[in-house]
Amino acid sequence: MNIAISAEKERLLSEFDERMSHDCRCQLKHAAQRPVPGKGIATAEILFIGEAPGAKEDERGEPFVGASGRFLDELLASIGLRREAVYITNIVKYRPPENRDPTPEEIRDCSEWLEGQINIIHPKLIVTLGRHALHHFFPDRNIADAHGKTFLREFPAGEIRRFYALYHPAAALHNGGMRDTIRKDFLQIPDVIKTILRSSHPPQRKADSPNILC
Ligand code: URA
Repeated sequence: MNIAISAEKERLLSEFDERMSHDCRCQLKHAAQRPVPGKGIATAEILFIGEAPGAKEDERGEPFVGASGRFLDELLASIGLRREAVYITNIVKYRPPENRDPTPEEIRDCSEWLEGQINIIHPKLIVTLGRHALHHFFPDRNIADAHGKTFLREFPAGEIRRFYALYHPAAALHNGGMRDTIRKDFLQIPDVIKTILRSSHPPQRKADSPNILC
């Protein structure tokens, strides 16, 4: 990508994340130490979306910096990537107290900021980490069936985006079977990206069946 365009995207994303920390209405901000907007490059081809910051993330203001973050780094290394080459964020931008699940209101209040990040980064692939991130975009999908599969979803502005579902690294960390599965699913990401790059057209609606995305 042209250097001027990359610099412009970096500027837009950092201004947007700064605005989020002032304007986000999510009630979690009152108990949290700091916002955790996300980290990585604005020109990332792959955007990873987890659930919510934990204690370590709340201290540092960065996503996935605890044990699950170390596992995520290991998974990224397995496909030759470092976190500096991707963008990592969460569906909620502040730590829920005691690491409880975020409520639907908290998710709703953070969602415009997540969508804004997606629009600026415009990734080729969005990887959901765990069931909360999956359900945010695909409420009817079950993580046990969806992991390792790609999905398409239309956004309000009409854009159709591609997703790939994974188990959450924190869940997989302490469960041998799930750990092997997430490792295997992760290794498919380069092929998923290759397939996207090979396809000559962006995802669209089928003309003869407008409810089908292809
Ligand atoms: N750290 C994050 O930033 N998000 C998660 O979902 C888990 C740990």
